[in-house]
Amino acid sequence: CGIVGIVGKENAEKIIINGLERLEYRGYDSAGLFVSDKQNHHLIKAQGRIKNLEEKMTDDVNGTIGIGHTRWATHGKPSEENAHPHTSQNGRLVLVHNGVIENFEEIRQMYLTDDTFYGETDTEIAVHLVAALMENEQLSTKEAFQKALTIIQGSYAFALVDKEDGETIYVAKNKSPLLIGLGDGFNVICSDALAMLDQTSHFVEIVDGEMVTVTAEGIQIEDEKGNNVYRESYEAQLDL
Ligand code: GLU
Repeated sequence: CGIVGIVGKENAEKIIINGLERLEYRGYDSAGLFVSDKQNHHLIKAQGRIKNLEEKMTDDVNGTIGIGHTRWATHGKPSEENAHPHTSQNGRLVLVHNGVIENFEEIRQMYLTDDTFYGETDTEIAVHLVAALMENEQLSTKEAFQKALTIIQGSYAFALVDKEDGETIYVAKNKSPLLIGLGDGFNVICSDALAMLDQTSHFVEIVDGEMVTVTAEGIQIEDEKGNNVYRESYEAQLDL
């Protein structure tokens, strides 16, 4: 029920854990994170409190890019397996999702085979769909994500990382909250500005249907037709 992410800053794992703790008020039953220093990739999930996730973090878990998630189960029981991030079968794509994918059954039948799945969530459909589009249609990660967004119906805030790239977080939203936060040499994403206020006070809104490419250097917002969109940032004025 909450998403945080960061690209371009040391100790991304700590920033993500702190961010998830700030999102605790939204409610959740499990949590997880992906973090990478480009060479080493770590995926850690735990049922229950963020503390349980924290306890699983060993010293080698660190990186400069990562995404984290707190889950409020809608499809599939709260379990470590069903916790996000979810990964594609080839292990390359890592994705977190808030919301509900309504046409997951149709997508499963049209694009995917039953042996693709390891869990019971609607979310898994999304990561497998992007992977299938990359493979079957020879699309880039970004193109496949963009195409997947035209197929997926329902509410979502998505954050997607391709391990082979390791420098980019792709995000999109529809009827679920998601913001971009602008840093100096890094950028963040979050469901609520509160989660990242210790990192930045400058945020950019995302409009439903847009896709945003987030790197350490900058952000690129595109509308549904792939046209670039420019949007001013605003300063969040919240008392911590
Ligand atoms: N529908 C997804 C699931 O059950 C996401 C739930 C959420 O927003 O946390 O895993």
